[in-house]
Amino acid sequence: MNTLIVACASCGKKNRIPASKQFLHPKCGHCHVPLNMTGKGVPVELGDYDFHDFVKQAPLPVMVDFFSPTCGPCRTMLPIVDAMASEHTQRFIIAKVDTSKNQQIAAFFNIRGVPTFMFFKNGSLVDQIAGAVGQYVLEQKLQNL
Ligand SMILES: [Zn+2]
Repeated sequence: MNTLIVACASCGKKNRIPASKQFLHPKCGHCHVPLNMTGKGVPVELGDYDFHDFVKQAPLPVMVDFFSPTCGPCRTMLPIVDAMASEHTQRFIIAKVDTSKNQQIAAFFNIRGVPTFMFFKNGSLVDQIAGAVGQYVLEQKLQNL
């Protein structure tokens, strides 16, 4: 599981936060002041072993980017996905799965091409779209959740 580092606005200490917990209103481990996560979010990196548990327990709607590092359109989309993750820490969870390393989960969802974006609400797959698309297309699908 990936982590992010957020400096506390109150005491200045750097906090290491698991990406899977960035949505749970983390507090500074030193002075216990809530950390301001706005603009700090990162995509949650999920894989074969943690995907189902994470999506099932997610407190917010989840968008998952199924990508491969060797795919050109996927690389085009990664900065967009990163930007969405940094903006949406309070309302949506943005996650990504490297399908070259996590073939079980890709097979489970019958993913034939990357990038494929899937949208989950209350643990259920409710929408999906394949191929490189504009950020507004993904934002619209999130708003519809
Ligand atoms: Zn602090």
